[in-house]
Amino acid sequence: MTGFARRAERVEPSAIREFLSLAGDPAITSFAGGYPDATLFPIEELHQIYADLLTRGSAGALQYTASEGLPQLRALVAQRLTADGMPCTAEDVLITQGGQQGLDLTAKLFIDAGDVIVTERPTFLGAIIAFNPYEPRYRSVPIDDEGMDTDALQQVLRTTERVKVIYTVPDYQNPTGQTMSLTRRTRLVELAEEFDAVILEDTPYRELRYEGQRLPTIKSLDRTGRVVHLGSFSKILAPGLRLGWALSSPEVRDKLALLKLAADTQNGTLNMRAAADYLSRFDLEGHIASMLPTYRHQRDLMLTMLEEHFPDGTTWTRARGGLFTWVTFPEGLDMARFQRDLLIPRAGVIVVPGAPFFAVQPESNHARMSFSGVPDDRIVAGVSAMGALLHEALSG
Ligand code: PMP
Repeated sequence: MTGFARRAERVEPSAIREFLSLAGDPAITSFAGGYPDATLFPIEELHQIYADLLTRGSAGALQYTASEGLPQLRALVAQRLTADGMPCTAEDVLITQGGQQGLDLTAKLFIDAGDVIVTERPTFLGAIIAFNPYEPRYRSVPIDDEGMDTDALQQVLRTTERVKVIYTVPDYQNPTGQTMSLTRRTRLVELAEEFDAVILEDTPYRELRYEGQRLPTIKSLDRTGRVVHLGSFSKILAPGLRLGWALSSPEVRDKLALLKLAADTQNGTLNMRAAADYLSRFDLEGHIASMLPTYRHQRDLMLTMLEEHFPDGTTWTRARGGLFTWVTFPEGLDMARFQRDLLIPRAGVIVVPGAPFFAVQPESNHARMSFSGVPDDRIVAGVSAMGALLHEALSG
C-alpha cells in the first residue's frame, strides 16, 4: 500500500510486542508486563456500582456528556489534586483516556515536525510512541538517584535552538523507578521558565509510595502556567477503565479539550460515572493504602533476590515506589539477544530489554524488571534462574 502520511514512517510495531505475547503463557515467568496486580482491583465495589448504575434506570450514565469529562468526576479529581498541593477547580481538569491520551494530546498541541522534546534517558516507551507521529527531534538527559539531571538539562537547553517540551516522570519513573528530588524539581521549573519550555509532568505511579516522603508535584511549583500535569486511575483503581486527567492552565485546557473532542468526543460516560461513584461511595485513599504492603513486599523480595543471584558488575535501582527496577549489565551484554537465546528458551523468563526506552542513542545492556503481580515463588525461581544464566553468559 502506498500513500501513507509522512508520520506513518514513525509508526512501527514496538520491539517489545513480539515477546510480550508470551506474558500470558502460564509456563512463562514475566517480569516484563508492568501491569498493576489484578488481584488488588476492587472488583466487589465496582460490581456493586455498575449494577446500581444499570438497574436504577439511570440512563444518564449511558448518555453523551461534555468532552472535558463528567462534571462530577472532574470535581472529585480536582479535590484530590487540591489535596495534593495543586489548588484547582473542576473546570481546570480535563478527563482523558488514561494518562496515555494526555501524552498524545499534549504533543499534538505543542509539537510541529522538527520541534525538540527533551526526555529522560531512559524514558517511558509509551511516551516515545505517543510523540513520534508529531515528528519531534529528541534530546535526552540522564536520570540518576535524584531523577532527571538538571545540570545536563541546562546544557541541552543552552545548546539547543529551542526546546518546546520537557517530558518527565518525576515519581518512581518508568522504566527506572527513580524519583526526582525537590531541589531538582525546583531547578527544572526555573530552567523551563528561563528557556520558555513547557513541562509535561506524567505521574501514574505517584501514589504507589512504599517509603520516603511525598514530594511536591512539579505542577505545584509552577508559577507561570507552563506545566501540564498528567495523572491516571490505572494504577490506583483499574487500567481497564481508561481514565486519567490533565491539569493545565485554562488556555491549554481549552485547547486540549478541543483536541480531545476531535479525537474521541469524550471518555465513556459509564466508566466516568462509575469512577465518580467509587470516589464518593468508597474510600480510594484506603484502597491505595491497602495495596502498598503487597507491592512493597514484591519489590523487597525482588531486590533481595537480585542481590543474591545477579553477578558482580550488574547494578540496579532501588525504587521507593512504583512497579519497576532498572538493571544495568556489564557493557557488551546485549539484553535482547540474551533474552532470545538464553533467558526464554532455558529459563522461561521474560524481562523488557532496555534499548526501546531510549529516545536517542539506545543502550542495549539494560533491562526493566517489574515485580508487580508476580507470585513470590516465581520471583525467587525466576530471578535465580536468570542469575545463573547471566553468570554463564558473562563467564563465557
Ligand atoms: N505514563 C507512564 C510513565 C506509564 O508508565 C503509563 C502506563 N504504563 C502511562 C503513562 C499510561 O497509562 P494509562 O494510559 O493506563 O494511564
